[in-house]
Amino acid sequence: MYELEYQRPGSVAAALAAADADSAFLAGGMTLLPTLKMRLSRRSRLIDLSALDDLQGVRVTPSALIIGAMTAHVEVQDSAEVRRALPALAKLAGGIGDPLVRNRGTIGGSLANNDPAADYPAAVLGLGATVETNKREISAEQFFTGMFSTALDTGELITRVSFPLPRRAAYLKFRNPASRYAVVGVMVADTAQGIRVAVTGAGPCVFRVPSFEEALSRRFSADALRGLRVPSDGLNGDMHGSAAYRASLIGVIARRAVAMAAS
Ligand SMILES: Cc1cc2nc3c(=O)[nH]c(=O)nc-3n(C[C@H](O)[C@H](O)[C@H](O)COP(=O)(O)OP(=O)(O)OC[C@H]3O[C@@H](n4cnc5c(N)ncnc54)[C@H](O)[C@@H]3O)c2cc1C
Repeated sequence: MYELEYQRPGSVAAALAAADADSAFLAGGMTLLPTLKMRLSRRSRLIDLSALDDLQGVRVTPSALIIGAMTAHVEVQDSAEVRRALPALAKLAGGIGDPLVRNRGTIGGSLANNDPAADYPAAVLGLGATVETNKREISAEQFFTGMFSTALDTGELITRVSFPLPRRAAYLKFRNPASRYAVVGVMVADTAQGIRVAVTGAGPCVFRVPSFEEALSRRFSADALRGLRVPSDGLNGDMHGSAAYRASLIGVIARRAVAMAAS
């Protein structure tokens, strides 16, 4: 680690006033602190968001589930409101990392980081959620721009995420047994915007699968996906699995997720 300044502002306005290109917002620190320690990133100021009550908590309206950016994974996992309104999201949150990570890690930190194997990006894209910041609303399609990159500007703060409530949805991942990150994770959702299928872990960035969505629009059944394949071109290949393996896994996990959502 190296010398840096630490601030814990008491309001969103104060946090934004402190933010510049040399600073970083600190959520649970699950990614940011190791990155700084390993000198993969360098910042001169950390702006701790933990005192900002405006960024906390879960709220359900008749049409949406709204989650504050500083809401920890364990709160989403355990929330009776989330379990009732969007059980697939509670399950997703409960499958993130281990208890320490779920106690400290936040939805805002996960989305801002946009790790290619993270779970929440699949939920945001698969459910057609909107990421709200201090200055705008960003659709899921526009938010994720590539590996570890998003549409966020320097100093832009995620305040909350709004998930439209689907008719039915399920999330399933084949996880890395050590980290629990997704080797492949699939969110399948039957939404007011149509059927949506979003895949994380398999590529450099979360993506949708139009061929699966079209097939499921005709018949929402696991059998509707039989014979369909995602091309392996451009998928991740590493010590956990080749691109071809991930391509095959997408079909398997997607079929199981559809069966879960349909049951
Ligand atoms: C061992 C381990 C296992 C994990 N396993 C999984 C897993 O299975 N699935 C999974 O999805 N994730 C996993 N994670 C990631 C974890 O879920 C965290 O969400 C992620 O590390 C981000 O951490 P954080 O919320 O503490 O954010 P931080 O580390 O504090 O911040 C991450 C980045 O987001 C920025 N940021 C934070 N909040 C905001 C905001 N409100 N607005 C704008 N920018 C912001 C920070 O400046 C920083 O750049 C794992 C992490 C670890 C360490």
